Amino acid sequence: MLNIVIFGPPGAGKGTQSLKLKEKYGLIHISTGDVFRALDPESELAKIAKSYSEKGNLVPDDITIKILESEVSKHPNASGVIYDGFPRTSAQAKALDEFLLRKNSSITVALALEVDEDELRNRLKNRALQSNRPDDADPAIIQNRIDVYHRQTAPVAEFYKSCGKYVGVKGIGTIDDIFSRLCMAIEQLTAQSSKE
Ligand code: ADP
Repeated sequence: MLNIVIFGPPGAGKGTQSLKLKEKYGLIHISTGDVFRALDPESELAKIAKSYSEKGNLVPDDITIKILESEVSKHPNASGVIYDGFPRTSAQAKALDEFLLRKNSSITVALALEVDEDELRNRLKNRALQSNRPDDADPAIIQNRIDVYHRQTAPVAEFYKSCGKYVGVKGIGTIDDIFSRLCMAIEQLTAQSSKE
């Protein structure tokens, strides 16, 4: 199974690249942000999630982990999964490892899109013009998402580095250039593991 975590700050291009990776490698794409946005807006869960996301804060781990596990369980025959926007905290990373272990599976690689902050702010500002996402529209909320990323999500990189699964990829350039870099990283890794 090819289980990929696509990692990076808001605006790094995780969603865009995930769709291309999904296509090329025949993976299931699970974006926790998309899952939260697709909830029935009248449901209690949607209201709770929105109360956090509209301020640019993370939805609590217990809720997010349950949602993620239920999404993965919808695809028992998947040949691989791309995790987009999850894990976003060390507790989520640990929970994902334990969940996969129970299924005799594991994360293959965490691909981290590296983009500097000025570029991130620009991209989110532009996305706000098209996306209809309230969390993209307000510079103070964008800043909070970037701060939350540094505070709560950046430690996840250390988690994957410590188990040798972290691969940093330059997230600047054309969409196709970045996609080629990601594919190269995956193919190097799968070639390596088939030799072992
Ligand atoms: P971004 O484009 O900022 O990466 P996403 O679409 O992935 O945003 O997520 C939007 C919002 O959904 C986040 O700001 C957060 O409130 C919530 N969210 C998404 N994934 C998670 C997660 N793994 N843990 C907690 N909250 C999450």
